[in-house]
Amino acid sequence: MGPQRAKTLSRIGLETIEDIIYYFPRCYEDRSNLKPINRIQVGKTETIKGKVLASGLKKPRPRLEILKVAISDGTGIVYAVWFNQSYLQKSFPVGTAVILSGRVDRFREIQIVNPAYEILAGDEEDLIHTGRIVPIYSLTEKLTQRRLRSLIKDVLDKYANRLPDILPENMRRRHSLIDLPRAIIHIHFPESEEDKESARYRLVFDEFFFLQLGLALSKAGKIRSKGIGHKASGKLSQRLKELLPFKLTTAQERVIEEVRADMEKDRPMSRLLQGDVGSGKTVVAASALLTAVEGGFQAALMVPTEILAEQHFLNLQRWLLPLRVKVALLIGSLSPRMKRESLKEIESGQADIVVGTHALIQEKIKFSRLSLIIIDEQHRFGVKQRAALREKGVETPDVLLMTATPIPRTLALTVYGDLDISTLDELPPGRMPVATYLVGEKDRPGAYKFLEEEIKKGRQAYIVYPLIEESEKLEVKAATEMARHFQRDIFPHLRVGLLYGRMKGEEKEKVMQLFKEGRIDILVSTTVIEVGIDIPNASIMVIENAERFGLAQLHQMRGRVGRGDYQSYCLMLGSPASQEGRKRLQVMTETSDGFRIAEEDLELRGPGEFFGIRQSGMPELRIGDIASDMKLMELARREAGLILAADPELRDGEHYLLRQTLNRRFPTSFEFRV
Ligand code: ADP
Ligand code: MG
Repeated sequence: MGPQRAKTLSRIGLETIEDIIYYFPRCYEDRSNLKPINRIQVGKTETIKGKVLASGLKKPRPRLEILKVAISDGTGIVYAVWFNQSYLQKSFPVGTAVILSGRVDRFREIQIVNPAYEILAGDEEDLIHTGRIVPIYSLTEKLTQRRLRSLIKDVLDKYANRLPDILPENMRRRHSLIDLPRAIIHIHFPESEEDKESARYRLVFDEFFFLQLGLALSKAGKIRSKGIGHKASGKLSQRLKELLPFKLTTAQERVIEEVRADMEKDRPMSRLLQGDVGSGKTVVAASALLTAVEGGFQAALMVPTEILAEQHFLNLQRWLLPLRVKVALLIGSLSPRMKRESLKEIESGQADIVVGTHALIQEKIKFSRLSLIIIDEQHRFGVKQRAALREKGVETPDVLLMTATPIPRTLALTVYGDLDISTLDELPPGRMPVATYLVGEKDRPGAYKFLEEEIKKGRQAYIVYPLIEESEKLEVKAATEMARHFQRDIFPHLRVGLLYGRMKGEEKEKVMQLFKEGRIDILVSTTVIEVGIDIPNASIMVIENAERFGLAQLHQMRGRVGRGDYQSYCLMLGSPASQEGRKRLQVMTETSDGFRIAEEDLELRGPGEFFGIRQSGMPELRIGDIASDMKLMELARREAGLILAADPELRDGEHYLLRQTLNRRFPTSFEFRV
């Protein structure tokens, strides 16, 4: 083809024959149901077959040409109409047999404007544009469905039957997977619904299978690379346990042990710790940090916000000072003097544990003997940032990722397939579910009154706004005005505080400290408090414009309350306009189970939008859908496991095609995570 056309195609990623073969339809239109012309209905999309009776071209105005082609099948006449496409006239000489599809309307006569058409050469098997189930592709400028469809058909005719089947035959037989050429042909040009389904089944399986092979190989690769192999005495973590003001839950004990055992192994740890909000991940992290310190190493804890860094820093300091373990803090807003101090401690090794934000991955920061990296709220970080911190370790450091956004099982198998997973599936005792209500605008005064009563009982509250951080000035202004409004107009007798993202470090610190000490009753805030913040006396969360938040985010915010012994409340103010928005808020009122919320979220938004998936570095899927093809994912995972158990590096001759396909599909290898 010419260079112009090639350029157009390359815009949608089509450069090779393989690209074209694997450019699957976005959807289909069923144009197979032919109707006699006298039975077609105005307003519906119909498909008819007939012969050209006559055609005429009119030019009612300059720059307007109307081509009308009359078509009859003996039962009636319908007019196909095109605007400014007079060149089509020569395609419809009188007597030509055609099939047309499109929306029927009546404009004096019964007509179809701009129909999809197929000129019949007598060989009906080759219908591609209508008279059948027709594939619809994603397009780009200067490309039409018709052109792309014809191109794909040509390519398939020439090459599809020559495609070697990449899956071993016995695997195909065991799972009734149709052969690859047939699957490819039918996914583009199915003869029936069943064709389409069996083709899709086979191709989704393929996609998942190679993904799982890649993940498993990447995991195995990590196993082979050499890690620290911590030699831990267990003394420090034992002391920590004794010093804690509470008894660990069984789940915490179990997970702490899983992590410790993993750190002692020779191969590097890559572990994901998932536990719902409030399940007590911080203590697990502390224990792991101490395990590294016991072996004479340094450990780092990276978190997404400065407030959270400070909170972790203060907690760790309080817990670890009696153990003579030195903790350093590194965040962007430290004073230059304190920053220099921290850097010195980190580089010299005086600091055993370093807590910080993204500031930790700056070029100039050098650790002395970093052997363990913990990343809290890991979904907030990108692949590159996590890798950058890992680069700073000695050899291959151990990595523990923590998340409170539980991952539905299928996603865990996919996105995190190369990680080991520990789960805190138990909350500390005495926690009561947060009573959650959707509050309409007219009940706002009632909500404020309720809030005031709770505060009189000694509790504290958050009021969160979905502020768009367009510009610093705007944010500061809006946030300040809001807090003033609450202080002056609504709660004149209470102490209202304000917290937002772009506040200076010291100010943030001061406000958090005041809130923690109970000297602020209501903290008006932007979503900066979304993750991690832990103030057990705060028992009310008011979320303004709740419909603007995603489910995972709402769950995280609600997780700021219900952390102590008090009945806690979450009041969502808002009026969702969309069906989906209503569903989201309804889910919140029905359950506080993070796993269920994650499943619903996945269902409502689809995996692409699911929190954190985009940052995960997972290759994009062409046809499979993680949410609805769950069973196939598990099947693919099992099959990948079987193959690798027999042939761990795919060296067998019969696995040659597997290896080759894997390398071609994922040329940048699977080093995309942790
Ligand atoms: P998250 O998993 O959301 O990070 P945190 O680690 O912040 O949870 O813990 C939530 C709260 O529960 C903190 O106040 C913490 O001190 C407390 N906590 C943690 N473990 C226990 C436990 N075993 N018993 C009682 N309280 C606990
Ligand atoms: Mg936390």
